[in-house]
Amino acid sequence: MPGFELFGDLERKEVNDVLDNGVLMRYGFDGMRKGHWKAKELEAELAKTFNSEHVQLVSSGTAAVSVALASAGVGAGDEVIMPTFTFVASFEAIMMLGAIPVLVDVDDTLTLDPKAVEAAITPKTKAVMIVQMCGSMGDMDALRRICNTNELIFVEDSCQAIGGTYKGKPLGSIADVGCFSFDFVKTITCGEGGAVVTNNKDYYINADHYSDHGHDHIGSDRGAETHPFLGYNFRISELNAAVGLAQVRRLPEFIELQKRNYTIIRETLVDLPEVQFRTVPEGGEESYAFLNFFLPDLEFSRKVSKAFKENGIDVCWNYYDNNWHYIREWHHLKDAKSLYPLSADLKHELSELKTKDFSQSDHFIGRNISCLIKLSWTEEEVKLRAEKMKDCIIKSR
Ligand SMILES: *Cc1c(COP(=O)(O)O)cnc(C)c1O
Repeated sequence: MPGFELFGDLERKEVNDVLDNGVLMRYGFDGMRKGHWKAKELEAELAKTFNSEHVQLVSSGTAAVSVALASAGVGAGDEVIMPTFTFVASFEAIMMLGAIPVLVDVDDTLTLDPKAVEAAITPKTKAVMIVQMCGSMGDMDALRRICNTNELIFVEDSCQAIGGTYKGKPLGSIADVGCFSFDFVKTITCGEGGAVVTNNKDYYINADHYSDHGHDHIGSDRGAETHPFLGYNFRISELNAAVGLAQVRRLPEFIELQKRNYTIIRETLVDLPEVQFRTVPEGGEESYAFLNFFLPDLEFSRKVSKAFKENGIDVCWNYYDNNWHYIREWHHLKDAKSLYPLSADLKHELSELKTKDFSQSDHFIGRNISCLIKLSWTEEEVKLRAEKMKDCIIKSR
């Protein structure tokens, strides 16, 4: 997945444009810029890449999720359904708005189980947020139906699935509003950065204003602009956007490399009877950022993880005991360890997490091995790695 592996002259040239004129901010200073508008250019480029009408760049993927939810009107007391397997950013972004994360089970797609989503809907539910984890996706048609039937906002966190598609559409462009991260370990990077992507003009205008203190961005005198509603600062800088501009143009090259490396490993493991690849919904194509497979049980996958480590196979994880990606170790969340007071209804929902039954999620996450696919590996290195992985699995029998 990581765009940080391939960084060079193209990125340097874009950054130098910004350094030459010294305008590090994305808004204003028109006269000094010498025509360089890196954030605006990157937004236009991302709109093409993700086949979406509107893109709002922000300072991170976490900010993108908060801004997306705020732009769709999600706030205090609203419940947002999200998966148990994701990155901590998902609940952080929801809670920042005073909204309530409602965690539900994942299935063999490694993201939201539509049945679990349906069962979690209450009169307070406002949105469903799918997280397209590890380069793939959930059943988008089923989730769309559920959202339409129950009049819920459908949000798509595609931070880990840049370049994946579902029925020909880019992941991130399918729900009502999509979110991307361009942090340092994502498929393309800005160093730090994120984007809100939508075909809904109202959400876009809200995101544009909200992420810049409520500025309406009308006219050419920033100080004279009005503030139709309250905002915040989630702006990206021109330096970060410049890096992203070079990176996004290389995305097809990155996906090709990922696909080659992924395919070599997959084909090496495919005949092992204990390896079952994750389910990709019909019509879906992964971004090839990760290769995910299930082993027969938790004990076996722990054994294989250990064997991988001992044999120099890095960047492969079983997330069952992971501190950042799976609910089991999110004690700070379950214990509501906040620096500042939280609302009573939020605290109540979080305390429920201590006793809720997530055995279905445990069943899938416990058996899962998730392998990052690097861009910098040579074909020979990948082949060697794949054979070693196969050996480790056989020897764990
Ligand atoms: C990386 C990531 C985020 C947060 O992105 P940042 O840019 O690091 O804030 C959110 N969701 C998922 C699924 C991610 O992987």
